Amino acid sequence: MEAERSAVLRVSWQERFAESPGVLKSPRRKQTVVPVRDFSVGGDAFITIAGPCSVETEHQVMTTAHHVRSAGARILRGGAFKPRSSPYAFQGHGIEGLKMLSRARAATGLAIVTEVMSECDVPLVAEYADILQIGSRSMENYALLEAAAQSGRPILLKRGMVATVADLLRSAQVILDNGNPNIILCERGIRTFETATRNTFDVAAIALVKQISHLPIIADPSHASGHRELVPALARIGVAAGADGLIVEVHPNPDKAWSDGEQSLTFGEFDDMMDSLEPYLAVRSNTSWKRSEEPLEAVG
Ligand code: PEP
Ligand code: MN
Repeated sequence: MEAERSAVLRVSWQERFAESPGVLKSPRRKQTVVPVRDFSVGGDAFITIAGPCSVETEHQVMTTAHHVRSAGARILRGGAFKPRSSPYAFQGHGIEGLKMLSRARAATGLAIVTEVMSECDVPLVAEYADILQIGSRSMENYALLEAAAQSGRPILLKRGMVATVADLLRSAQVILDNGNPNIILCERGIRTFETATRNTFDVAAIALVKQISHLPIIADPSHASGHRELVPALARIGVAAGADGLIVEVHPNPDKAWSDGEQSLTFGEFDDMMDSLEPYLAVRSNTSWKRSEEPLEAVG
């Protein structure tokens, strides 16, 4: 009943997102389930992606992969081609980083997601990765979106830091129009006047996308907050908002990380965060909630 109701989209939403009709829910298309190796994203299972911001060393990737797998993650993240705010910061190991990721996949069975920044690199990255990540800074690079879509790999499409939900859905439409239905959206925070956090976590965007689109959406509490103390709370909020999964930065020694150490969780913090999600996931799947039939007793 609930599913049926939510498959009927109010006309006002259809009009507002008229430029991306293919990603909107319809009676024919209620939910996209993206196949990844031996599991899927957007189905019944909640999927956690975890790993370092950047692939640094064999040891760093391997220990992180083993750890996050034991804590329940299904996908290993790690940047080999890094979009950095500073041109002088570490730009990633490139192909050597891809090889380290693929060795970690072989050792752990985790799937791999990694960013592709240039359309020229799509064939190379698609050879190694199970999912191609389109980063926030590239969300509106349509030439890249087309090339990534045509690789046939599932796409993790991160919301641009100054992109509206309509912009995000338009980019998803470009991927769809290039023959690739396997799109996972990601809310990673947007720029606002607030500077205490790195970005502002737009949790309403998750609720909205769940309401109007058949595409899965995951939350990135690491880039949304920029501070590791805030990551677990934002992760729980993402779960409560209905996200299909999480992408979280984890590092064996965050203070020594080559990028985004401030927002990376230690192994222990990641374990605690994963444990803390359980009641939120349980509440979400509890459909038996009913308004009490009993009249409320007056107090006092
Ligand atoms: C990342 O995932 O490491 C990253 C660079 O994210 P974003 O594109 O959201 O800034
Ligand atoms: Mn990062």
